Amino acid sequence: MKLSAKKINEVWLNNQIKIDDNIGTAPDFLKVFISDLDTKSNISKIIAHFSSLKLNELFFDNNDYDWCFDESAYRVTTEAAYQFRLLQLLLNLGEVSEADIGTIVAREAITPGASVMPRVMLVDDISFIVFPLGWISQMYLVATAIVATKLGDRILMHNIINGFCVNIISEEIVYNFFDENPDYTLSPAEFSLLYESVSKHLIATHKDLLGSQIRPTEEYLTPLAEAITYGCEAFTLAHELAHILVEDHKLKSDMADEIKADKLAFDLLVGSSKTDVMPDVGIGLDGKPIFCAHAFLLIAHASMLVYSKLGFEPSQISELNMRTKVLADRINSFSLPADSEINLKRFDLLVGNFLKALNVEAELLATTKVEMMEMGSSELSRLMASHFKKN
Ligand SMILES: [Zn+2]
Repeated sequence: MKLSAKKINEVWLNNQIKIDDNIGTAPDFLKVFISDLDTKSNISKIIAHFSSLKLNELFFDNNDYDWCFDESAYRVTTEAAYQFRLLQLLLNLGEVSEADIGTIVAREAITPGASVMPRVMLVDDISFIVFPLGWISQMYLVATAIVATKLGDRILMHNIINGFCVNIISEEIVYNFFDENPDYTLSPAEFSLLYESVSKHLIATHKDLLGSQIRPTEEYLTPLAEAITYGCEAFTLAHELAHILVEDHKLKSDMADEIKADKLAFDLLVGSSKTDVMPDVGIGLDGKPIFCAHAFLLIAHASMLVYSKLGFEPSQISELNMRTKVLADRINSFSLPADSEINLKRFDLLVGNFLKALNVEAELLATTKVEMMEMGSSELSRLMASHFKKN
């Protein structure tokens, strides 16, 4: 029987919370995050692009993707956009049939944690590639901070980087609390709201250090910021697809798997770059896969730099360095058109300046981290005492 949008939504709703407590939530809670009244019309606009893919009839005859054309398969616009790009990658695979990899669905999950990474979940023969909201917002913060660096807007950059750090510290406070108080049971939705409350409290109590406005405004959504987020998303999507292609749904992947997935992700992007559309930053089609890999490494480095400055997760840094080296070797084996290369050099220079500034800002914040964590913890205890009962 053919898959339907209804069936996919059912599988997702029935399994998301059981599989991973931090991923996904009930439809009611989704409304808190999605205020776009025009989401539906944006989704249909993206689906209109899907018809260009339908020209490849053989693919749709051999694989179960008719549900992709049903609006109700998507809850937010980004899900439709991710699915579109996923189909582009799959169409370029050619020889891989659904019998080998099954049906793949891209999903955005309402998980606020800064450290929650995209991943693959296999449920009822459907592979969900999951993009957590927390990860998306960190990526967006880095992209806009790069734009602020380019514009020389030190204050905005300071504020955005602090927002980035606040996300990480808030997450640590919430995780610590539940490690120490295992007798509370919370739904993922409650967990997410607590996380939001703690970060709001930290911002309100540290205005002098953090600035009052730590979210960038619309004007910073420049083509460059869009290209960075697009590039990072595109590479990540290809990376998760690569895991599905080579690992046969292993639950845990090791370093060798990550390196293998990075390499294959890059090849998948090279294969599909001719048919894709990307915000214009003067990179050109040939340079696109390379730019996507650069954007991915940029976001990963920025995150790891902040984590290490704030004293968290040092072990991941050396892993990332190893992945960077292998991926860089792979990228460098491709030659670029001259004009693209110039633009990428300029981009790398900008990234270098951004990382230097990020280093300084994160160091400043590291000096007050302990104080912030204490203040956040007491606020969280207060919230728990007044709103939640122990079992
Ligand atoms: Zn991976």
